[in-house]
Amino acid sequence: MWTCEHLETAGDPPALTSEGCAECLEMGTRWVHLRRCLSCGHIGCCDSSPMRHATAHYKETGHPVISSFEPGETWRWCYADNVMG
Ligand SMILES: [Zn+2]
Ligand SMILES: [Zn+2]
Ligand SMILES: [Zn+2]
Repeated sequence: MWTCEHLETAGDPPALTSEGCAECLEMGTRWVHLRRCLSCGHIGCCDSSPMRHATAHYKETGHPVISSFEPGETWRWCYADNVMG
């Protein structure tokens, strides 16, 4: 499978929040699925969620790689290159 340098060098930091999307918990908004930033462990909500905090986190910080934070899901995604790996 084709991959990118971000996916190849991505870490595996522990989740900063285990209860849910960091911003949604603060704002009291809802999320659908959770994504974990592999640069800093930030937990944000997916693009099916109203606030899309995982994507917002990438735009704000430039941290390119997320992984699913849903039980049983192990896929990763690079925003910079639009590749899954
Ligand atoms: Zn990449
Ligand atoms: Zn959120
Ligand atoms: Zn991050």
